[in-house]
Amino acid sequence: MVMHPPKCRQQHLTRLGVDNAAGLHDAGRPFLTEAAMAKLFSSQVAERVTSLALQLFGGVGYTKDYPVEKLYRNAKVGQIYEGTSNMQLQTIAKQIMQRT
Ligand SMILES: Cc1cc2nc3c(=O)[nH]c(=O)nc-3n(C[C@H](O)[C@H](O)[C@H](O)COP(=O)(O)OP(=O)(O)OC[C@H]3O[C@@H](n4cnc5c(N)ncnc54)[C@H](O)[C@@H]3O)c2cc1C
Repeated sequence: MVMHPPKCRQQHLTRLGVDNAAGLHDAGRPFLTEAAMAKLFSSQVAERVTSLALQLFGGVGYTKDYPVEKLYRNAKVGQIYEGTSNMQLQTIAKQIMQRT
């Protein structure tokens, strides 16, 4: 299946964000804001991409007959565990407010 161009771009941006946060960590530099941004954005992209994949299957995509429903659930939970999306937003906002 050919990747949807905007989704491909979002996947690329996700990788850059994760690599940036990991690079800051490895260099011993502050990375809290960048890690929160990477977690927030990558979980949003994963949810969007798998939601689109499920949609392509129509109603059967929602059933356990195909693995796409599990891929969607696995992606969706990324917005919940290890700090929900709201918590990532709060972390980012607090860090930005501290800088100003
Ligand atoms: C599959 C799975 C595996 C898990 N594995 C682990 C694990 O290994 N270890 C572990 O410790 N936990 C684990 N969890 C728990 C997970 O970390 C929590 O579900 C998560 O922290 C959210 O807490 P909660 O479910 O109590 O939701 P709540 O805290 O009740 O939040 C519900 C909603 O309200 C929002 N919200 C809550 N407080 C605020 C606030 N102050 N401001 C704005 N919005 C707010 C949240 O963002 C969320 O959208 C797991 C959960 C799942 C689903």
